[in-house]
Amino acid sequence: MKEVGSIPTPTTINIMNEHLDKALCEAFPNLYRDRNAPMTETCMCWGFPGDGWFLIIWHLSEKLEKIILRESEESRHLICARQVKEKFGGLRFYMSLHSDKIGAAISKAEAEALETCEKCGRPGSSDNSKGSWIQVLCEVCGEVN
Ligand SMILES: [Zn+2]
Repeated sequence: MKEVGSIPTPTTINIMNEHLDKALCEAFPNLYRDRNAPMTETCMCWGFPGDGWFLIIWHLSEKLEKIILRESEESRHLICARQVKEKFGGLRFYMSLHSDKIGAAISKAEAEALETCEKCGRPGSSDNSKGSWIQVLCEVCGEVN
């Protein structure tokens, strides 16, 4: 018989829980306009990475949404998030369009994520990772793994 604890949860499979996901999409409707578009059109359908990075993604989203709103109404639809994911222990945030301002905001968030536990948001590093899967974890989450 399987123990209850072994059932995968959003935390163990490292996908942001749906309430945080929904909060992002509601707060930044321009940036995440493609969140529920079909996967043939966008990679946003895969959602967001770990809950621990929620605040980092939130602050980045605020900046990007403002950048979009500064555009004229005709060109706003050209700028939106294409994919937000974790790769090799780091945050990756892809936009449909690039500019220096967008690039700077994303670089800052990616640097923060490298020092933030992707499960709980405490200070962390990827030194705690075990096995081949590289993750940024704090001491507590690193031990649970
Ligand atoms: Zn942690």
